[in-house]
Amino acid sequence: MLRIHEVYQSIQGESTLAGMPCTFIRLAGCPLRCVYCDTPQAIPLDSGQTQSLDEILQALPKPQTPLALVTGGEPLAQKHCSALLDALVKRYQYVQLETAGAHDIATVPSQVSIILDIKTPGSGEVGRNRWQNMQCLSTNTEVKFVLTNREDYDWAKSIMAKYGLAQQCTVLMSCAWGSLTAQDLAAWIIQDHLPVRMQLQLHKYIWGAEAVGV
Ligand code: SF4
Repeated sequence: MLRIHEVYQSIQGESTLAGMPCTFIRLAGCPLRCVYCDTPQAIPLDSGQTQSLDEILQALPKPQTPLALVTGGEPLAQKHCSALLDALVKRYQYVQLETAGAHDIATVPSQVSIILDIKTPGSGEVGRNRWQNMQCLSTNTEVKFVLTNREDYDWAKSIMAKYGLAQQCTVLMSCAWGSLTAQDLAAWIIQDHLPVRMQLQLHKYIWGAEAVGV
């Protein structure tokens, strides 16, 4: 059984698959409290409904999108998340998991592309990073830094260097909405010739920053 906050189809707004039609499976509950959280409605575990794996799979929207994203909340806080991922990789061409990285990612099926959100000091949750996860990176992993200011950017660069991230996986950098401008981040990346992929949250440009369920 899993606690599901919502399931809907939209456009993937982030990651290297940004722009693709995507089925979002948002799990309820998150033990973190990032200052910029844009899905606070999914933080409480009781914001969701308990469903069996069969019920979740039968209710998936049709026609099916090529991509499914399991997100939250924090999906890996639910012990049956890996069973859901296992079932999805049999049904979808691409499956992504978005996780804050406070939990062990070693149990995630290898076919799943993990978007590992490393929490910066500006998030207020830097102490929750599970650094053992750096041993589990692969070319199918995308490490993401959401940056609130210049200090976060410099910190992210130091983490990239310490763990050799750019040599192991895709590194994404994005702005915490309302805290850092895309122009500033772009200028820093260009100046440093940083081997990262800057990303904007497409869904916020399409539907607005306050829209939910899109
Ligand atoms: S980990 Fe994600 S869902 Fe949880 S508080 Fe942080 S931004 Fe929100």
